[in-house]
Amino acid sequence: MKMVLKSLMVAVLVTTGSAALADYPTKPVTLVVPFAAGGPSDKIARDLAEALRGPMGVAVVVENAGGAGGTIGSAKVARAAPDGYTLLVHHIGMATAPSLYRKLSYKVPDDFEMLGLINEAPSVVIGKSSLAPNSFAELRAWLKDNGSKVNLAHAGLGSASHLCGLMLQSALNLKLTAIAYKGTGPAMTDLMGGNVDLMCEQATNAVPQVEGKRVKVYGVTSAQRLAIPALKDTPTLDESGLKGFDVQVWHGVYAPKGTPPAVLTKLNTALRSALKDPQLILRQEALGLTLVSDDRLSPGGHRKFVEQEKVRWAKVISEAGEYAD
Ligand code: ASP
Repeated sequence: MKMVLKSLMVAVLVTTGSAALADYPTKPVTLVVPFAAGGPSDKIARDLAEALRGPMGVAVVVENAGGAGGTIGSAKVARAAPDGYTLLVHHIGMATAPSLYRKLSYKVPDDFEMLGLINEAPSVVIGKSSLAPNSFAELRAWLKDNGSKVNLAHAGLGSASHLCGLMLQSALNLKLTAIAYKGTGPAMTDLMGGNVDLMCEQATNAVPQVEGKRVKVYGVTSAQRLAIPALKDTPTLDESGLKGFDVQVWHGVYAPKGTPPAVLTKLNTALRSALKDPQLILRQEALGLTLVSDDRLSPGGHRKFVEQEKVRWAKVISEAGEYAD
């Protein structure tokens, strides 16, 4: 039924002809964020929306459709009219959901058109401010003693925080109690309120909280330390004894499958010029993000990258043995 509807939408688009395409866009474009407001995906999409307004020449608005590790919002875009007015900004969860979810209602990458990868984002291991340990070594010992009594917040199965948490538990060889949220925006609120103990969160969301001493930071998950002032003295997990630990998140922009090539070209061109916006560059770099400028900013390069990441993470997920329906 869904497929029939989608074919009908494509047919209508084709028959309404090239005039509409040539004019695209003539009304606001929506960026669907598959996580709650207040988290990194939301922040990145809002910054991008602002930078896209100039090149697109219309309003670009953000809609949060959080839940189930990003799969609810992704399914919404996979089913949307392929007319260039509903797009998805999603992270690594795009590549991991097919391995994690037994009943995923969309196919990756087949149900999407790739518009370009936009950035790479390191994460940090952070804890509530009242947590006793003051270094990663102390945290490690404390986790060993407290194990499943410790709560680890994440943004749902397949979210970046969940994946990073899985890697951390596997590297430490222990199992904590996971608490799922609809995004790390609400999870961060609970961490700052002292209601959960730990989270593996993108630097994007953590920097202001680390600066304000509202959370404790224990380590950076990327192979290299970060250059940003709030985190430059924070050791990597690799330096702290978890040899080879390297988890980075990435974000990309997607359109529903069947979006006309002329619209895709306009969108990719707009995306490339948005990523050169000096304000966007400043804001993203201040949060530890690296903007993509290589071939992954092209639809073909983006697609290839998603396919590679899908294979890489399928292995990690099957080793962890955690699945969702
Ligand atoms: N950072 C979240 C994650 O762990 C998503 C979000 O809320 O932006 O995937």
